[in-house]
Amino acid sequence: MIELDGATGEGGGQVLRSALTLSMITGQPFRIVNIRAGRAKPGLLRQHLVAVQAAAAVSGATVAGAELGSTSLTFSPRAIKGGDYQFAIGSAGSCTLVLQTLIPALLFADAPSSVRVSGGTHNPMAPPAQFLQRSYVPLLAAMGANVDVALLRAGFFPAGGGVVVATVTPCVQLKQLSLMERGERRGGYAEALVAGIPGAVGQRELECVGTGMGWGEEQLLMRGLPAEQGPGNALLITLEYEHVTEVVVAFGEKAVRSEIVAKHAVNEARRYIASGAAVGEHLADQLMLPMALAGGGSFTAESVSQHALTNAEVISVFLPVTFSFEKESLASGERHTIRVATVS
Ligand code: ATP
Repeated sequence: MIELDGATGEGGGQVLRSALTLSMITGQPFRIVNIRAGRAKPGLLRQHLVAVQAAAAVSGATVAGAELGSTSLTFSPRAIKGGDYQFAIGSAGSCTLVLQTLIPALLFADAPSSVRVSGGTHNPMAPPAQFLQRSYVPLLAAMGANVDVALLRAGFFPAGGGVVVATVTPCVQLKQLSLMERGERRGGYAEALVAGIPGAVGQRELECVGTGMGWGEEQLLMRGLPAEQGPGNALLITLEYEHVTEVVVAFGEKAVRSEIVAKHAVNEARRYIASGAAVGEHLADQLMLPMALAGGGSFTAESVSQHALTNAEVISVFLPVTFSFEKESLASGERHTIRVATVS
């Protein structure tokens, strides 16, 4: 039984999610204590609990400690079974983080799967659904995986109610990927998602992005959603390159001016552009697990977060891989090279 301390590194939910995924794939049971010890509200929140329940359903696992607020858990998987699954978070907890746990595991199932998750689709501190669709899934495809993600309904904090469906076709072995360059710029656009709040909020965000990025009107898109999907507002900036697409997000909040929301997104987009690296901070931590499953790979990243370092630690407990991190200082900032290799 693998023993994990959830207080490792930044002590967040990723330790648990990566452990669930890799336990299912490798068949190694694990016990984790101090779940999310580094967070203000430690233990399992609804999103984490649903990730545990979903992982258990998919892999026929025996689980102890799967309760809201629980700070320890034992998870013993059996075989991963493909099929049609539905999971409801029952709050605005992130659907995409539940899918982040399941998708890599379902690549190793005995049959294709479709997974419908309801909850939040656009949450602070989680990938927005479009990030999975445009950034994460195409890189899995480059590794030979056939995955599709559909956003059926948006769900924002605190109401939730969004729906995302992932379809996953099993793949015998992921191919190694070398993503050292992002390649030529192909396009860029911003979208203001607005549900149940005045459209002027989105218009102002888009105007600021237009100014900040030097973009014309055809690149600034209003996405008015049905009011019952709100209240909510997310501003997405999508940057398309030959080898990778990055999606940056900022969220509208009560009492926060549209200009400030836009500035967050523009600054993040500019930091990524200036770095010249293939991937941004979030894609960096999410690429590590599939690359480790492929037995190796490499990429350049704008930054290496504490989150990524923690993820590397957990991954190398389950798989015989090592991660190396190299930093390069550039006039415009810094760029990191991350390499994943199998330990012989
Ligand atoms: P918790 O303990 O509350 O569950 P956590 O530590 O697991 O939180 P974070 O570190 O905030 O959560 O990140 C969760 C995941 O969401 C990571 O894989 C991170 O890359 C991803 N993520 C966060 N923000 C974004 C974003 N804006 N775009 C894409 N992915 C994101």
